[in-house]
Amino acid sequence: MSKIITHACGHEQIHYLAGFASQQERKARWLETTKCTTCFLATEQAEQAEAAVRDGAAIAHLDLPSLTGSDRQVAWATTLRASRFCSFGTRPVIEENGYQACVLVTDAKWWIDHRALTDHELLEEAERCAVEVSILASSDHDPSLPQAV
Ligand SMILES: [Zn+2]
Repeated sequence: MSKIITHACGHEQIHYLAGFASQQERKARWLETTKCTTCFLATEQAEQAEAAVRDGAAIAHLDLPSLTGSDRQVAWATTLRASRFCSFGTRPVIEENGYQACVLVTDAKWWIDHRALTDHELLEEAERCAVEVSILASSDHDPSLPQAV
């Protein structure tokens, strides 16, 4: 059964309610206490934007290099990197080499691809990439090779 629900935010939204009449009634009552989808998403986005600004301000003193990639990748990766460095800041012991390597990673895609790693894994991964790059840089490597970082 489809029903128009007036949400807590005052907006009306059509919902499909499944199940027995009593279940539908319970669901409808619960929906009335929640925000409509539009307001819910707007709140969530505002919270994420707020967190990004907060993280960005907290790491501004680190003076990190600009990221490279598409506008979309850079915007996303900048947020991911900011929250990482905030998180690193609260670690009791910083894995120094990995930390330095992370500072130097400017490829937006790298930050996006590794977003699911724990801080520790990320630091290790950055260090591993940095070692590969320095090996490439110190040997007679083919300059057409893609950058490892
Ligand atoms: Zn609403």
